Amino acid sequence: MENLKIETKCIQSGYVPGNGEPRQIPIIQSTTFKYDTSEDMGKLFDLEASGYFYTRLQNPTNDYVAAKLAALEGGTAGMLTSSGQAANFYSIFNIASCGDHVVAASTIYGGTFNLFSVTMKRMGIDFTFVSPYCTDEELEAAFRPNTKAVFGETIANPALVVLDIERFAKAAHAHGVPLIIDNTFATPFLCRPFEFGADIVTHSTTKYLDGHGSGVGGCIIDSGKFDWTKYPDRFPGLCTPDESYHGVTYTERFGLAGAFITKATAQLMRDFGSIQSPQNAYLLNLGIESLHVRMERHCYNGQKVAEYLEKNPNVAWVKYSGLPSDRDYALAQKYLPLGSCGVVSFGVKGGRKAAERFMKNLKLASIETHVADAKTCCLHPASATHRQMNDTELEAAGVSPDLVRLSVGIENVDDLIADLAQALEKAGE
Ligand SMILES: *Cc1c(COP(=O)(O)O)cnc(C)c1O
Repeated sequence: MENLKIETKCIQSGYVPGNGEPRQIPIIQSTTFKYDTSEDMGKLFDLEASGYFYTRLQNPTNDYVAAKLAALEGGTAGMLTSSGQAANFYSIFNIASCGDHVVAASTIYGGTFNLFSVTMKRMGIDFTFVSPYCTDEELEAAFRPNTKAVFGETIANPALVVLDIERFAKAAHAHGVPLIIDNTFATPFLCRPFEFGADIVTHSTTKYLDGHGSGVGGCIIDSGKFDWTKYPDRFPGLCTPDESYHGVTYTERFGLAGAFITKATAQLMRDFGSIQSPQNAYLLNLGIESLHVRMERHCYNGQKVAEYLEKNPNVAWVKYSGLPSDRDYALAQKYLPLGSCGVVSFGVKGGRKAAERFMKNLKLASIETHVADAKTCCLHPASATHRQMNDTELEAAGVSPDLVRLSVGIENVDDLIADLAQALEKAGE
């Protein structure tokens, strides 16, 4: 059937059992796969036949789930990775090498910021960070002749800034490079970045896609729309023979629909081996089966909590793009019409100390580095995920010292608000 709605895809896409086969995705808990002849196996190594030979590169359980995620995002191909960090690393390193440059939104997740600005810089890849609110001129000025991609998050973690995906896609395409969007907080249920011009989507599946805090994972999905062959000199890895893989030219052999993901599998998974375990892929799929139901409740609860916090006298400010008073409200109406997810950032009046007192007094919301989970949790980023940043970098990332990131779960919202109310009352003491 064509044009299935997203709720149906959450349940049905990716794995279609044959006659008498397991209804649920089987966990293929095997490192390796058996062949009758060396010739058969040789064809796999040459990428002449598709099939499995070693789980460091590919595993059927993972591929069922990756195919479901590709269907949800409206992409042509996908791969699972061991973490969101691995997904974002691969998404850039698949097309950028030593001496290259990437433009990224300054509000991206602290772990990604560190990966880009410290670790990938050591690999010789330079990043220019631009505010998502930058002018067109400032965005234009960030590009260099060696720029290979633009990177941003649909809803930034934890700044909760909504990216104007269409504007960033236009700028990227004007310079002949793809826009890569980390869609972790929105999930394909709330936003599908390909519909707004993005070319590659990544996820930390650890968050809403898993939804139950059970497995760390990531994924990369390709829209198949970016035409690498128009810029063969800029993307030689995709457009010229790969000597490390028997001279295969990925765009020729696999077309635009498959080149990016096949290269990432054949080269990066082979060499770095950041594969998701089939067990975790199975758990991830269980999460995705209820994604649409959970996200509706996360959005409903998040909106109610944000509205409550905005009126509480012990709260200095609230950042939630579903609030009409929010700077990103208009962008959220366009990119997130079904809701702004369950993550709400706010400042406790009285600054850092008051924020700490507030957190200590919470009874239902637990203090965790985790976010986007069925269970309500919260975090003080300046003393945890973002502690490697100095004050200027914190400000650029949209993280103030008093910022509390509250990840609103799917409990009863009245209970959650009662918990916040009593903890906020004690925060000022
Ligand atoms: C958590 C997160 C990551 C990193 O994902 P891991 O699965 O923890 O490696 C990347 N991007 C965003 C937006 C995140 O929230």
